[in-house]
This record gives sequence, structure tokens and C-alpha cells, in this order.
Amino acid sequence: MGTLSRTRATLLVAMVVVALGLVVVVQLWPGLVGLERKTSAPERDGVPLPRNERGPGPDEVPRSRTRERRETRRHPRTRRSADTKTPRRRSRRQRDSKLGKLLDEGIQGPRPACDRRPFTASNRACLPVIDSHTHISPLYRPVRTAIEIFRRTGVVKFVNKSGGRYGSPRYKAHIAVQRALGWDRFAFFINLDWRGVNKPGWGEREAKNLALAVREGAVGVKIFKTLGLGVEDEKGKLLPVDDPKLFPIWKKAGEIGAIVALHTGDPKAFFEKPGPTNERNDELTKAPSWSFYGPKFPKRETLLAQRDHVLQLFPKTTFLGIHLGNNPEDIDYVARTLERYPNFYVDVAARLGEIGRHPPAKVRRLFERFPTRILFGTDIFVTSRGYQLGSVSKTKPLFEDAIAFYRAHWHYFESSDRQIAHPTPIQGKWKIDAVGLPRPLLQAFYYDNAWKLIFVPQIARRKRWGDYQRYRLGIVP
Ligand SMILES: [Zn+2]
Repeated sequence: MGTLSRTRATLLVAMVVVALGLVVVVQLWPGLVGLERKTSAPERDGVPLPRNERGPGPDEVPRSRTRERRETRRHPRTRRSADTKTPRRRSRRQRDSKLGKLLDEGIQGPRPACDRRPFTASNRACLPVIDSHTHISPLYRPVRTAIEIFRRTGVVKFVNKSGGRYGSPRYKAHIAVQRALGWDRFAFFINLDWRGVNKPGWGEREAKNLALAVREGAVGVKIFKTLGLGVEDEKGKLLPVDDPKLFPIWKKAGEIGAIVALHTGDPKAFFEKPGPTNERNDELTKAPSWSFYGPKFPKRETLLAQRDHVLQLFPKTTFLGIHLGNNPEDIDYVARTLERYPNFYVDVAARLGEIGRHPPAKVRRLFERFPTRILFGTDIFVTSRGYQLGSVSKTKPLFEDAIAFYRAHWHYFESSDRQIAHPTPIQGKWKIDAVGLPRPLLQAFYYDNAWKLIFVPQIARRKRWGDYQRYRLGIVP
């Protein structure tokens, strides 16, 4: 009898388990199907397109047209007074959630950015742009102002290069900005903490911090020109760019797919004697600390050779040589470096003065040879104190100057005009010849290259797209 009742009990339990299993499957089925449908959303490079680029989807929260129009019409200046009067009434989250939408409008509907470009009678290019090299203070006002500039100029995503040291307030503020704007619109690089650089274990510590930062939202680490020109070793000598102390960081970056943005050296004139004969005397007078003339500093060529040594030693790490690989004066050198090191990318930030001095055909040839390895970037600073447009300036730049700064970029890359002004006049008293890139090259340079290099891995790192969707809808904090 004992055996019989045990068998009966086992049967009963088995039936209950099967029934429960059925219930679970039925309950989950729509969810599973929904997940299927979500991942088969329009894709680019194997990653589903961000919501703003694929039109309304099944998960879109409908918004009334009037509300949308109201949001568009509001201008930061008219809202400023309201903001200061009631600083606590709206939560940061509510306030921030508007920022992402505003940035989206850069490519949605009629694009004012296109109409305002002065030189394009035919509006030839008018493509969405990713500014891969910005320094926007991670505070509400500067971000809001930057977005207003971006909306007016067609920039739809941006990448901050000064995310601060891991764990610092600046770093945390960048995480908050990213939360507000979305992973597909905003990315940032952290910076190194040089304190204790000569103590054992410094490189390992920074490598570990980089890994933590990338897990939390950074895309890589940006190294300022202080490496090679400012940081000293235990004997008081300048640390070379290829010092083994930094090897753990380069190695870790390669392992986790983080990008290393390198600023190595500076323009030739900064290494020459300052004074009236120096072609960048205006700039050096304004910023004397940018002069690296004298026996204390290594030669510019030495710094670049050290940089290239790092590229060679760490072929699995992606390096982004900002300011056209920090050798815009020598395009042949840049081409050779790009050819020799497939792990090397460059941006054009703040160097149109130098790049535009070359014959346009030569510059175009560089873009034709490396169509996927050159990123658009400007080096724009927007802080609570104002703007910096590629360099220091004699008079304080205004909002309209920032718009003109971007327009000067479009003018250079899209038109074929000769002897035009470059975006940052203080960088030299000469004119430049526009390069007039064909549309496919422009599209890659303005958008696709940065999207693939910076944003695709960033989104993929958040592994589950479903999580990402919920995050965008505000369900996941
Ligand atoms: Zn910069």
C-alpha cells in the first residue's frame, strides 16, 4: 500500500509540474515572440537602429503632435528664467528626458541645419553628423546649449573626450548625461589619474579602472598631451609616450574593446621659438603654456615615433589619433601610419587650418584611401563660462560664433571653394582650399565611421537589446 500511494503521489506531482510548465510557456509566449520581433527591427551593421532612426515602432509611446510642437518651440533663453525661478519643481530626470528628444530632432522632419548652410545653394550634402570630439561640461545648462547648437547644425550624436577620472564627480556627471541622452546619442572617454604614476601598480590600477568605467558606460580613455610633455617619472624626467608603466592600460583596452584616444605632441609651430616670426604667435601669446620650445621638451618627431611604437606593440588595441594623428602638417606621414597600423584611426578635430593648407586633391586622396578610418570631430568646448571653438580666441565667442564654427567645417568639407577662412582664425593668418568630398565619403566621415567605431560596440556591450529598449522608454533606471 505504501508503494502504491508513493507512486500515486509521484504521478500527481509530475502532473502538477507539467501543468505549471504549460502555464509558464503560455504566459511567456507573447513575450518571446515580442523579443523576436524586436531584434528583427531595422538594423545597421548587425545592431538594431536606434528608435529615432527607424520611425515609430510597436513599442513607441504615442505623443500628441501639439505637445511635440510645444517642446520644439520653446527656446532655452525663454526657458532660462522659468528654470531659475523654479529650480526644484521638475525632477532632474523629467528635465533631462527632454534633452534626448531635442537631439533627435536634428535629423527628424525638416532640418533647419540644411537650410542655413550658406554655401550650399543646392544643399548638396546635408547629412546627419556625429561630432566625435567634444568637450561639453556634463551639467544641464552647457549640455542644453550644446544641443541647441547641434540642432542648428545637424549634429545628432556627440562624444565627450573629457569624462574625468574614474569615480570622480565629473565622471559620475557624464554617466548621468548618458542616462539622459541614451547610449546611442552620447558616448564619452574617461581620463587617467596620474597621481601615483611612479608607484608600483599604478598601471594595473588604471587598467582596472578603465575596465570598470567601460562596464559602466565609457567607451575608452583619452590621453591628453601631458603624456610626453608634462608627466614626469621618479627622476623628474618627462615620461615617454611608450613608457612600460602604461602598458597594462594599453593591454587591458585591447582585451575589453576600449578605444584609446591619443593626443601626442602638437602643431609644429608650438615646438618652435615663440615670437613675432612664429606663425602661431597670436595663439601662443594667448596661451603661453602651449609652447614646447626649449631643451626641456622632446622633439615633436620623437613623440610621434614613441606613439607609433605603442601602435606597433599593441596591435589588438584600437588607437584614435586625434587632430589627424597629431601630424596634420604631414599628410604623407599620416597615410603611412594608417597603412602600417590597421589599429589606428584619426579625427580632424581643430586642425582644419593645417589640413586645408594642403592641395585639396591630396587631402581627398587620404579620404579615398582610408574611407573608414577618419572621423569627424571639432574639439568644441561648451562650459558654464562659454565656448572654445578649436582654440583660444581674442574675444569671447558667442552662440552664433559656435554655429559659424560648424558652418566653416561644412564649407571646407562639402564645397570646392578656394581661399576660404578656416574655422579657427587664431590658428594662423592664412586661407584654406576646400576639399569638396563626394557624398559617399562624406557620409562615412560625418557619421558611419564614428557610429561603427564608437556607438556600435557601446550598444553591443549592453548585450541585451531588450534591456536597452526598456532603458530608452524609461522603465530601467
Ligand atoms: Zn580635445
